[in-house]
Amino acid sequence: MTVHKTYLQPASVHEAINMAVHAENDFRFLAGGTDVMVNRFQGNETSSCLIDLSGIHALKEVKKDGDYLMIGSLVALHDLQNHIEIANEFPVVIEAAHAVGSPLIRRTATVGGNILCENRCIFYNQSDWWRNAVGFCLKCEGNICIATGSIKHCYSEFVSDMAPALISLDALVEISDPEGVRRIKLEDIYTGDGVRPRNLDRNAVITSIGLPLHQEFHSVFNKLRQRESMDFTSLTTVVSLNKNGKVKIVLGGVDPKPVIVGGSRNSDIEVLVTQALKRSKAIDNEIFSRNYRRAMIRVFLERSFEKLFVEG
Ligand SMILES: Cc1cc2nc3c(=O)[nH]c(=O)nc-3n(C[C@H](O)[C@H](O)[C@H](O)COP(=O)(O)OP(=O)(O)OC[C@H]3O[C@@H](n4cnc5c(N)ncnc54)[C@H](O)[C@@H]3O)c2cc1C
Ligand code: SF4
Repeated sequence: MTVHKTYLQPASVHEAINMAVHAENDFRFLAGGTDVMVNRFQGNETSSCLIDLSGIHALKEVKKDGDYLMIGSLVALHDLQNHIEIANEFPVVIEAAHAVGSPLIRRTATVGGNILCENRCIFYNQSDWWRNAVGFCLKCEGNICIATGSIKHCYSEFVSDMAPALISLDALVEISDPEGVRRIKLEDIYTGDGVRPRNLDRNAVITSIGLPLHQEFHSVFNKLRQRESMDFTSLTTVVSLNKNGKVKIVLGGVDPKPVIVGGSRNSDIEVLVTQALKRSKAIDNEIFSRNYRRAMIRVFLERSFEKLFVEG
């Protein structure tokens, strides 16, 4: 049997959506490809058609739109630092970008691809023959979770480093799909289901990520990983405080979706930390144990509040 593989390069978002509709779900959008291509090599991504968005120049712009700074979804992580408004108003975005992978990856990887990168698990991110030998799990069409024994739930970890920073700054995403264009809160695209971690229409293109201007955010970013270069997160925490005293805590790496806790400058820190711990469903499915990562949630959050409130 001949397997047909197609590679398409649309010049506009409209064209990309049309190509997607014609590919009838058997396709994958490609931005920098640093996540998609690894998943293809491991046999976890098998679409016949790749629709490469990288020729759509309109998605590489950063521009103001009313009270928002709109960052094009195809802006490379390395290039975020070249934009003065991002550096001045949202330095944590650059810090988070800098924590992703390696310098080479950051020159190719995009913001849009980062917020949509696939959830991870030590039993899933393996070669096809490894998974075949051990047994396929719920996330790759098996019938049991190898990590927990559950026949219902997958707790693959949400690992984007950019999303926690962006969500803590009240980011929204602009989405184009066959129905038109809309803007929603970034956190609303995540489901918490490790098998299908996002609820976007399959044909939807994320065109930009919007950040609210003039909020005078102060933010603290922390990332736990085995090696300071290259490794995916085992726990990312971001705590942001705006000019009105609103506090937003966002965790990555300890649940199938970003864990979010809201509060204010006057909140009891112990209560906020307890809520964050309660909402995180970390399991033993990566290099550091669940217990260690949970202990580090408290350590990172207490350090973050110390930095925000005591050191200013
Ligand atoms: C060695 C290594 C280390 C890494 N370390 C980290 C890390 O520390 N932290 C981290 O967060 N990530 C890490 N990554 C994962 C990945 O490199 C990043 O998440 C990267 O930002 C993904 O962006 P991309 O443009 O390459 O996405 P792609 O691989 O092109 O796409 C990722 C997903 O997003 C979809 N997509 C992309 N753009 C759009 C769009 N505009 N509209 C709709 N769908 C879209 C694709 O279809 C795909 O499902 C690492 C990867 C490797 C190989
Ligand atoms: S958490 Fe379980 S079902 Fe999900 S990817 Fe890991 S082993 Fe598979």
